[in-house]
Amino acid sequence: MRLCTPRYRRTARAARLPIIIAVVVLSVLASACTASLAAISPLNHPTVIAGATNGALPASVLYTQGPSCQVYKPAAGSLVGMLGAARADGVTLAPEQCYRDYAGQVFWRKYWCDRGLCDNAAVPGTGNHGWAKAVDLRGSLGEVTYTSAAYKWLVVHAGSWGWNQPAGLGEAWHWEWVGDGGTRKAPTIRADLFTWAR
Ligand SMILES: [Zn+2]
Repeated sequence: MRLCTPRYRRTARAARLPIIIAVVVLSVLASACTASLAAISPLNHPTVIAGATNGALPASVLYTQGPSCQVYKPAAGSLVGMLGAARADGVTLAPEQCYRDYAGQVFWRKYWCDRGLCDNAAVPGTGNHGWAKAVDLRGSLGEVTYTSAAYKWLVVHAGSWGWNQPAGLGEAWHWEWVGDGGTRKAPTIRADLFTWAR
């Protein structure tokens, strides 16, 4: 029995080794993911565009994705890339509304206030649609809802493209671009796509 004890210890040590390696590898991966997704937080928001006015952006900074969607050019590659990734996964995802000029913001604020739901639209001149850094998305059954396949896909994948959902909004369809780090000044996400649209 005395001879068995050291052998047992060696075996136990050998058995622990793969577990220790796995823990180290997972820790390194987790810290890498945390660093790359730090901008993705319910508390983060898009930055304002220096030298520009909310809702009055010059056409030169906008990329037209489709008939109902213009986005800030540095965000365009992240949007188009995300839509393509969803399509590749068999998920229908498309923009419904993106940039909203000042008149559009006034229209939607009045539309919702008339229905007693002012909070559904930002005060004109303050919203992230006015910076062309917010998109309202639809899936296969219309506007994205919290139970839709599109929403479930977004929760998993949108962050890796720089798209974030702010806290307390209650709008499953509304996503905001913080790929430049956002107001948290976090590390950028997919900076390689910032010049995708010129
Ligand atoms: Zn929105």
